Amino acid sequence: ATFADLGLHPLLVAHLQSKMSITKPTSIQRAALPIFTKPSSEDTSARDVFIQSQTGSGKTMAFLLPIIQDLLPLSTHSYIDRSIGTLAIIIAPTRELAKQISDVLEALLTLRLRPDGEQENTESSTRYTRWLVSGLLSGGATRAHEKARLRKGVPILVSTPGRLLDHLQNTSSFNVGKCRWLVLDEADRLMELGFEDTIKGIVQGLDGRRKLAFQAVQDGKTFEVGGWDWDRERRTIL
Ligand code: AMP
Repeated sequence: ATFADLGLHPLLVAHLQSKMSITKPTSIQRAALPIFTKPSSEDTSARDVFIQSQTGSGKTMAFLLPIIQDLLPLSTHSYIDRSIGTLAIIIAPTRELAKQISDVLEALLTLRLRPDGEQENTESSTRYTRWLVSGLLSGGATRAHEKARLRKGVPILVSTPGRLLDHLQNTSSFNVGKCRWLVLDEADRLMELGFEDTIKGIVQGLDGRRKLAFQAVQDGKTFEVGGWDWDRERRTIL
């Protein structure tokens, strides 16, 4: 199957090919993408997916591509609309991993679409996806700097767990009221590193509003998060 066969937006397909020389989906991408691009049921209000695959298998893009495709139509603004707040949160166990995910995300978000579906050639013209920006919270910047960033609005956020919970509890302008994605990358490592209570706090802070969740697992151990309705539609991809 090609990325197009999997239901990926033509402009994302073109972007992967021209900017990143990625033409063929990996097996984890073949398994994961259609769940989100071609939902089997009309009700997509809460679907949880467990992805289990090794590092190097392309799992990062397996969750980033569906998120971008889901969020793209939500705004035609060419600027960040701070009232939108944060729509997707990706939690990674370490600063290094958060940075790696953020780098892949930034590369994907350099794509520019116009509302008529044509790809932009010039940087100067209005950029349809300009509002769709990512941010990284990992304790590398001061708390005040991160707060200022969150106040402006960060549609897709990559974070380590402690910093994220801190901002959920203490940053009043951190708007997660419309958050529809939560990804726990390397969820098994998050647990090994003792973040279980932090994750539970984050899930409570998001108040069950999310639409979709990935629990990406490396070595097969899954875990339950209290108060999280994992059972509505749960799929495990191996
Ligand atoms: P990951 O498993 O997410 O850490 O990805 C490992 C590497 O594979 C990254 O450098 C990605 O850019 C690359 N990658 C992801 N998907 C593909 C693909 N379909 N074809 C070739 N390379 C890919």
